[in-house]
Amino acid sequence: MRVAVIGAGLGGLLAATALAGQGQRVTVFEALPYHGGRFTNIEYRGYQLSTGALHLIPHGATGPLGAMLKRLGVKVQIVRTSPPGLFRFGGKNYTHNQLQDLFGSWNKVRLVKLTADLRYSSGGDEPYLEWVRKRISHKKVFDLANSFCRWALSLDANEVSSREVVSITKNVDRFGAPGVPIGGCRAVVDGLVEALKRQGGTIHYQTPVEGITVEDGSVKGVSTPEGELEFEAVVSNIGPKATASLCEKGTFTREYMHGLSSLKAAEGIKISFSSDTPLVGHTCTFFTPEAERVGGLVELTHIDPSLAPKGRHLLMSHQKLYGNNIEREIEEGIEDLRSIFPGFDEHCEILMVQCYRSHWPVNRVASGTHLGPETPVKGLYNVGDGIKPQGFMETDGVAAGVELMLEKFNKDMRGV
Ligand SMILES: Cc1cc2nc3c(=O)[nH]c(=O)nc-3n(C[C@H](O)[C@H](O)[C@H](O)COP(=O)(O)OP(=O)(O)OC[C@H]3O[C@@H](n4cnc5c(N)ncnc54)[C@H](O)[C@@H]3O)c2cc1C
Repeated sequence: MRVAVIGAGLGGLLAATALAGQGQRVTVFEALPYHGGRFTNIEYRGYQLSTGALHLIPHGATGPLGAMLKRLGVKVQIVRTSPPGLFRFGGKNYTHNQLQDLFGSWNKVRLVKLTADLRYSSGGDEPYLEWVRKRISHKKVFDLANSFCRWALSLDANEVSSREVVSITKNVDRFGAPGVPIGGCRAVVDGLVEALKRQGGTIHYQTPVEGITVEDGSVKGVSTPEGELEFEAVVSNIGPKATASLCEKGTFTREYMHGLSSLKAAEGIKISFSSDTPLVGHTCTFFTPEAERVGGLVELTHIDPSLAPKGRHLLMSHQKLYGNNIEREIEEGIEDLRSIFPGFDEHCEILMVQCYRSHWPVNRVASGTHLGPETPVKGLYNVGDGIKPQGFMETDGVAAGVELMLEKFNKDMRGV
């Protein structure tokens, strides 16, 4: 079967490689001159910065992405971070277990109960912050909840349901802590492109898809600057809204379009900086609950020194984006870094500040909203970070969404 994949981001490449491995004739169309989308490296003065992701895979080699890469024959080493997290309070670092030391005995008991509920309850629709407040009303706990959500989801803790955070916690228990691919994000997407080509798939770079042809409710092909091309199935990696906008007006019902228009992206700011001395000293995610903006950061060079020139460390911080005054948001982020690391101006150099919103967000659909990969058009599917099943974050969510797409594709198109 001839299958077109729109977009060579991580979702498109995973889908394309898996479908080519089944024997489908896969053609990937990518608007940009490179593959990887928001998951590849940008080389800058010997540092491996990135187009988006912080060179982290939420559940390392053992989560959905790690498992899928292994199955597709992609050779990439993914090293687990350790300890899983450190939390900065009052200029001191605490491991997860040491956080108890911050609380009096009655609140310690409440904290144990909260942790147990995160692991064993199912959560609900109410915002995570409200759910936490019912169990323990303490500013430090609210700050911890916000720090995690801003770091991992680019959301505040009152913008995501407790159900989603409980599911994420269960997945952390099940699949483990984050991992760093050696060589950064590019090692993953380059490995996928190699695997895709081995299976006979092709990529057309600088070839934006300008339209999706639909006849009698079934997909018929795509139009590109190269012309109108026929395909029996189309897998789109550009987000559900952009996918629908490539189809002729009237293809979808008003309700479907209304549902898409209500989808919210997650937006954020990443600050990449270097240091001549270790600031964190560990490979873990370094959560910064007391910061105004920054949710956390990573010092990646403890896992992969090749990400920075010899003798330097590469760090990346992440913050949720509030409002449109981007310069102010960036200044606040930098102020946070100065207060977290008192020697910041002496030891560090800011390499790049990137703002992620509009058509290049952190997540095309914010965590907690779960769309399926199928569309009302037969043979047209969505993949990517608009399609993340419950409890799966970021690129593990992308991989879990691609698995769902493969199930639907095989059932609908192949009858297996
Ligand atoms: C600041 C930041 C930090 C992050 N940190 C992490 C992290 O540490 N770990 C993690 O797991 N995830 C992280 N993420 C999220 C992760 O980067 C994304 O979820 C993932 O890369 C999304 O992949 P995708 O395939 O859905 O989309 P994309 O990467 O956006 O791919 C879509 C592709 O489609 C192409 N395209 C668009 N329109 C067309 C068209 N009409 N025709 C052809 N091609 C088209 C685009 O050029 C692009 O290449 C982060 C994201 C950001 C922004």
